[in-house]
Amino acid sequence: GGGGPIVVTRGLTKQYGRVVAVRDVDLDVGAGDRYGLLGPNGSGKTTLVRMLLGLVFATSGRIEVMGRPIPRRTGEVLPLVGAMVEGPGAYGHLSGRANLALLDASGPGRGSRRTRRRRVDEALERVGLGGVDDRPVKAYSLGMRQRLGLAAALLHAPRLLILDEPTNGLDPRGIREVRDLLRALNEDGTTILLCSHLLGEVEELCTRVGVMDRGRLVLQRDMADVRAPTGRVEVRTPDA
Ligand code: ATP
Repeated sequence: GGGGPIVVTRGLTKQYGRVVAVRDVDLDVGAGDRYGLLGPNGSGKTTLVRMLLGLVFATSGRIEVMGRPIPRRTGEVLPLVGAMVEGPGAYGHLSGRANLALLDASGPGRGSRRTRRRRVDEALERVGLGGVDDRPVKAYSLGMRQRLGLAAALLHAPRLLILDEPTNGLDPRGIREVRDLLRALNEDGTTILLCSHLLGEVEELCTRVGVMDRGRLVLQRDMADVRAPTGRVEVRTPDA
């Protein structure tokens, strides 16, 4: 990473009974990174990011987000963090705008009705939902829902955006749009931490990569150090 630390964990561990979902993880996300947390299903990515958000409490270890320790026992989501993780989702019978307005009203944001209205409009505009908004969310495509989730995460101009599989279920065009949006947000100064099980996605999008395997962070590097100068290294396996 280039800038100062934004997310730091040391010895972070989460156990569910006998299952160790996350084991002794030392994560380092720097300011301005597009950090890709890579790993197969069940490797612990979701549990890890949910701990960063205070949605799941660690069994042991420590977490600092933007210089502030995340308390282990009292859930607290920092206002400067935006997140798109699997959750309760939106109200299907309401429009995207109405959903965001509800969220905004219950969030840390302030301002007059006009300020709030503008904040919601800008978030919708930013993800390309400005025009289609009057439809109820249940009429949205999966891609539109994904983008609505992103708009919700962007409402309060977070410095850190945490996303769990942001392109899951999207068609190629939707995938391209979400990736372009994430790059643009990052260029405007937002640090991005995303989970993915797709090596290609992390290669294309990310500046830094962490690889999870059975709860452990087994590799953490800048992408530039992972890529060989001539691209991918050819690996030959002996003939069977
Ligand atoms: P996915 O892509 O499927 O979300 P993941 O890499 O995010 O996978 P986790 O969902 O964090 O992995 O799961 C890691 C391990 O912890 C798995 O073995 C899972 O079964 C277990 N686990 C996760 N949440 C719980 C829970 N609430 N109770 C018990 N076990 C859990």
